[in-house]
Amino acid sequence: MTCPARLNRLRTALQESGVDGLLVTGATNRRYLSGFTGSSGYLLIDSRGGQWLATDFRYWEQARLEAPNFELLRLATKPLATLAQHCREREWKSLGFEAAHCTYEFVERLKAEAFPPLQPTSGFVEGLRIQKDEVEIELIRESAALVDRVWEEVLTIIRPGLTERELALAIEFRLRSAGASGLSFPTIVASGPRGALAHAEPTERQLVAGEMVTVDMGAVWQGYCSDLTRTVAIGRAGKDCRQVWDIVREAQQAALQGMQPGMTCREADALARDVISKAGYGDLFGHGLGHGVGLDVHEEPRLGPGTDPDLVLQEGMVVTVEPGIYRPGWGGVRLEDLVVVREDGVEVLSNALKSFNL
Ligand code: ZN
Ligand code: ZN
Repeated sequence: MTCPARLNRLRTALQESGVDGLLVTGATNRRYLSGFTGSSGYLLIDSRGGQWLATDFRYWEQARLEAPNFELLRLATKPLATLAQHCREREWKSLGFEAAHCTYEFVERLKAEAFPPLQPTSGFVEGLRIQKDEVEIELIRESAALVDRVWEEVLTIIRPGLTERELALAIEFRLRSAGASGLSFPTIVASGPRGALAHAEPTERQLVAGEMVTVDMGAVWQGYCSDLTRTVAIGRAGKDCRQVWDIVREAQQAALQGMQPGMTCREADALARDVISKAGYGDLFGHGLGHGVGLDVHEEPRLGPGTDPDLVLQEGMVVTVEPGIYRPGWGGVRLEDLVVVREDGVEVLSNALKSFNL
């Protein structure tokens, strides 16, 4: 979907809700609508037509190059006063702001300026982003492929004696070397009993033969994130490890095979959760099955038992499928792949080797 097409869809939504103008402050929403990748700037969108990118000297040339569909507004010493004046000139009766992307303090500062009546809004741009177009899906596919390639290298460096931090650093160096502009999130490496911590930070703990290690990593590629988790045995791990790993694998497989457009996100979650519950580990799978991935590594939709019951999987949604079992004091297993929802099921974008043994 091109920039003008995104703006047209946004305008339709704004008109339906009766908001005259929208102030976009979310960084990835700003990029999605305008193409501008700079870290500072505001968008103003008129529901009847017209769109502006307001930024300062540091980003002026970049804004001109990256956002040709937007008129530029120069911000200097009093940026909010400049925005307010622009809104008044457009004679907007109301200005929507993104409640999820404004601090309380920022809203107080908006109120101190002569803006049209302010209206908190949520989900206008996220509602467009929830379904990816083919250009976005290709970028996410490339981002996933980059991580897959790095995982192949990681398999050759995992060995007893290496610390979690050393492994995380080696992974991050390889992700950047392979072309990632950044990391989707700080790499998670959790070995042995620390595998029970779903979002463990790497420590000085050394990898030990006979234990498992969970690695969760992601790259940013042309703005788009990837997200991959593998748990592997270091050397010969015990039968109990293998057993838990097989249950998680089976749970993930059930979701990958069963997910369909039209199914609710809760139903998708239940596909995997049922397998884990039947095996007796239901209480140890304490998070949702997955989350949307795009310009942000965690975005809509969320797949979980508590997700909005009306939220359904739709074609073009890109989500993770990441069941896990976490046994305190023992360790854990998580397997995570990225998928895109298609007409007849899901297409798996992650192709990293999935094997219990190294
Ligand atoms: Zn992950
Ligand atoms: Zn994830």
